[in-house]
Amino acid sequence: MILFFGTRPGKPETKHLFNCACPYCQQHGTLTAVTQKNYFHIFWIKPFKISSTTTIECSHCKRGYYENEFTEEMNRELSNTNNQL
Ligand SMILES: [Zn+2]
Repeated sequence: MILFFGTRPGKPETKHLFNCACPYCQQHGTLTAVTQKNYFHIFWIKPFKISSTTTIECSHCKRGYYENEFTEEMNRELSNTNNQL
């Protein structure tokens, strides 16, 4: 019997943070958050999420932010599901 198991990356989710200013260049609406979720799966069993990484990038100054650098404003925008693409 062969077991197929391992991890695989999920589809990245992209979200625009319209009401958020970039802490670096102070431009509004230039930030995009990308969430990459990794799933663990065994054969036919439904995969479950093992990790999720979100990074935010500014299209104006090209600066990237990791989760530990997110501002309160960014986190608020991220939890706002109306911005989902
Ligand atoms: Zn910026």
